[in-house]
Amino acid sequence: MSSYDYDLFVIGGGSGGVRGARVAASLGKKVAIAEEYRYGGTCVIRGCVPKKLFVYASQFHEHFEDAAGFGWTVGESSFDWKKLVAAKDAEIARLEGLYKKGLAGANAEILETRAELVDAHTVRLMKTGQTVTAKTIVIATGGRPNPHAALPGHELCISSNEAFHLEELPKSIVIAGGGYIAVEFANIFHGLGVETTLIYRGAEILSRFDADLRRGLHEAMVAKGIRILCHDTLQKVSKAEGGLILETLNSGTLQASVVMLALGRDPNTEGLGLEAAGVAVDERGAVIVDDYSRTNVENIYALGDVTDRVQLTPVAIHEAMCFIETEYKNNPTRPDYELIPTAVFSQPEIGTVGLSEEEAGKRYGELEVYRAQFRPLKATLSGRGERMIMKLIVDAASRKVVGAHILGHDAGEMAQLLGITLKAGCTKDDFDRTMALHPTAAEELVTMYAPSYRIQDGKRI
Ligand code: NDP
Repeated sequence: MSSYDYDLFVIGGGSGGVRGARVAASLGKKVAIAEEYRYGGTCVIRGCVPKKLFVYASQFHEHFEDAAGFGWTVGESSFDWKKLVAAKDAEIARLEGLYKKGLAGANAEILETRAELVDAHTVRLMKTGQTVTAKTIVIATGGRPNPHAALPGHELCISSNEAFHLEELPKSIVIAGGGYIAVEFANIFHGLGVETTLIYRGAEILSRFDADLRRGLHEAMVAKGIRILCHDTLQKVSKAEGGLILETLNSGTLQASVVMLALGRDPNTEGLGLEAAGVAVDERGAVIVDDYSRTNVENIYALGDVTDRVQLTPVAIHEAMCFIETEYKNNPTRPDYELIPTAVFSQPEIGTVGLSEEEAGKRYGELEVYRAQFRPLKATLSGRGERMIMKLIVDAASRKVVGAHILGHDAGEMAQLLGITLKAGCTKDDFDRTMALHPTAAEELVTMYAPSYRIQDGKRI
């Protein structure tokens, strides 16, 4: 008989925590999981899922416009923000229910309370003050938006958390940042009719993506009417008649109804009792883990955004499954971070897997770059001036495709499938022998027979 109350105690009911708790419980372990806010975590409650629902909502005005080219006359349309928020909330509540149902079905104990570590095996349930013990503890408390406290007036700004529950749709918004969240929300708000400005400190938005896609998306967003200010930052935000006044480094004074900061996310470790348990964190407050997600304390693991490895839901889930293998199946398994497909749900969308041209240029002596830019079939009748970009980066020596990048409709869906081919180590010859599926946009990926250009020692030739 174990001398602990539980075999496993999980702190945090997000993607990683719930998966770890549910699977451990289904293996017959005595498991409890504690969540202080809502089950589902950032992804379900105020991240990926509601964001994608907002993306769909923001695309309809273009669908209505495009319809005319196909013979449709669409009557007067209007948009009701409150109705969207309510519908989204109902769906999120349903999903939260499913998360809890899954846990309960596996016999995990669901605790609706904040939990803090007291020592390496003891957790305090903050709602009641009760302490419980566990043989193994998993920290999966996720992250939160960086408040950018150094910015005078930061308290007047919102983050993505609040963007999901604004009372009213603002007339205008300035979004600071050039990453996933800033770019996705700039497109959402613009699509819903909000006058939108993006302000980003660097030379081009989405710094970790392929330059072609970054440039292509920037141009497409500007063509839609989104203002993008690069090489610029917010210096001060203050209240003004009917909104906010913003001082910027290079663009003078701006006005907006709402300012949203999307400047990265910080690990949620404050006040968690990590010191009391002896768990080490890095300078950003992220829990330090080894290759198997184990902290410096033998029986304590950490998963997902709280470890600041790769801040993506499927990665947290994968880390949880590896934890299960390691801890409960006698099969030490390291999470695999190679070739993670990713999408930016911008409009047009970005879907990508593998190395950007720039990164590949640093790693391989010679590359072949296959690039196509074309007008998608739907845009011929709709008259929309959009262009798709598809790009394959091929290591000339091995013929392996080391990067695949798409800008355009359904880029995320395509990137998921391309992820399989790259993971399988497919070569360009495998792509060439694959029959095209006509008429699709994706057929372009298997019909780019001659390289558009080559890169030798990092230089285009
Ligand atoms: P990102 O890391 O993607 O972007 C942060 C942005 O803020 C970057 O443009 C960065 O600039 C800028 N920035 C950081 N610090 C400062 C500063 N002090 N002053 C000015 N600019 C600054 O973070 P997000 O907040 O957009 O998203 C958080 C994470 O959530 C992402 O990393 C992603 O993993 C995940 N996510 C994934 C989504 C998806 O899969 N579709 C959607 C949304 C989020 P620079 O580039 O110059 O460093």
